[in-house]
Amino acid sequence: MKTSESTIGIVGAGIGGLVAAIALRRAGHDVIVFEQAKQFARVGADINLTPNAVRALDGLGVGEAARVTAARPSHRISRTYDTGEETSRLEMADSAEQRYGAPQLTIHRADLLAALAEMFPAEQVALGKRAETIAPDEKGVTIAFTDGTSARVGALIGADGIHSCVRTAMFGAESPRFTGIVAYRAVVPAERVAGVPNLGAFTKWWGPNPQSQIVTFPLNRGKDIFIFATTPQDTWHLESWTAPGSVDELREQYVAYHPEARALLDACDTVLKTALYERDPMPAWAQGRMALLGDAAHPMLPFMAQGAGMAIEDAVVLSRHLDGVAMADVPAALKDFERARIERASQVQLGSRGNNWLREGGNADWVYAYDAWAAPLGAPALAAEAAA
Ligand SMILES: Cc1cc2nc3c(=O)[nH]c(=O)nc-3n(C[C@H](O)[C@H](O)[C@H](O)COP(=O)(O)OP(=O)(O)OC[C@H]3O[C@@H](n4cnc5c(N)ncnc54)[C@H](O)[C@@H]3O)c2cc1C
Repeated sequence: MKTSESTIGIVGAGIGGLVAAIALRRAGHDVIVFEQAKQFARVGADINLTPNAVRALDGLGVGEAARVTAARPSHRISRTYDTGEETSRLEMADSAEQRYGAPQLTIHRADLLAALAEMFPAEQVALGKRAETIAPDEKGVTIAFTDGTSARVGALIGADGIHSCVRTAMFGAESPRFTGIVAYRAVVPAERVAGVPNLGAFTKWWGPNPQSQIVTFPLNRGKDIFIFATTPQDTWHLESWTAPGSVDELREQYVAYHPEARALLDACDTVLKTALYERDPMPAWAQGRMALLGDAAHPMLPFMAQGAGMAIEDAVVLSRHLDGVAMADVPAALKDFERARIERASQVQLGSRGNNWLREGGNADWVYAYDAWAAPLGAPALAAEAAA
């Protein structure tokens, strides 16, 4: 695969990396993506894309493909874990479409990745390339891979997730922090739990402490129900999309929850388990010819369901900053990109840690109404009402 100092390299073909690749190519750049995996595998879970993320995908032209398998939740409902009291209800679906220009969609991560991969030339994705060392200089960046090969590019985007090696090369080594929280993920056929109300909605059961919750939403166009439950647990440190957990343990963790929430757990045959890690907001994401986006820049807890959404927004805004920009001017454009995105992403990162968002209702506009295709370039993108 040929690269040169006029190529933009991206490390990581996750959601953020692929959106950036498509958008930067559309902005006229020669782009190559380096991905450590030898092939795209169907791992991961269902992912909740809120209107801000869906609108960004629609602008990229990937929304139609994403809608083929996605479900479209009717509402976003908050309930108290033991009494079942409903503490907030936001209309989504058509209402969200009218208010924000896009609905909320829930989709399997692999289906979203497949829809993105379709829109970028396969020959521009170098699989089996695990970046190991990164050496920037005035004219470009040299990446050395674990297979002994190397590549030279004019600019490099680190979209390589929470353990980002690009981040380490730019700002030094610092490990993500284990939060003391684990997450269980399970899928049950909707017909098996047909008696449970609101199966077409995104429902969050707020637990006795901020780390405990059960979230449920439809997937596969409503044929299945996805269950995402978190709880404090400091004995399990394994971060994995595929590690099995125990269904009995899952049910034990939530015995105090309302019968309608427990009915869903009772219907699970299998469950996956992962430990949750995060980092603090960073003071900078760009340096010279390199910049970070997505989890490489701002890994966050999943409590606002915004990790992928923020990665998608970053990638779109990055492409707008680099649109028509010559390689010599890329460092300044990357700094402008950082300025445009860092405040919003950091606020969502901290809000996710606090886990209180929309518990009692409130205005979701500062997150959902953001338009990555129209947000001001080079200026703080966060609306003043964000703090409200
Ligand atoms: C349990 C859980 C549930 C979640 N639910 C939601 C949700 O409902 N909604 C939402 O918006 N977000 C959610 N998130 C967050 C979301 O998954 C992430 O924020 C999102 O995947 C980040 O995308 P990314 O492209 O930045 O990073 P990643 O998805 O981590 O992709 C990074 C890519 O880089 C590759 N890579 C890593 N290192 C190297 C290297 N050295 N060389 C080459 N390639 C490399 C990896 O193989 C991977 O393909 C959830 C997260 C978790 C843990």
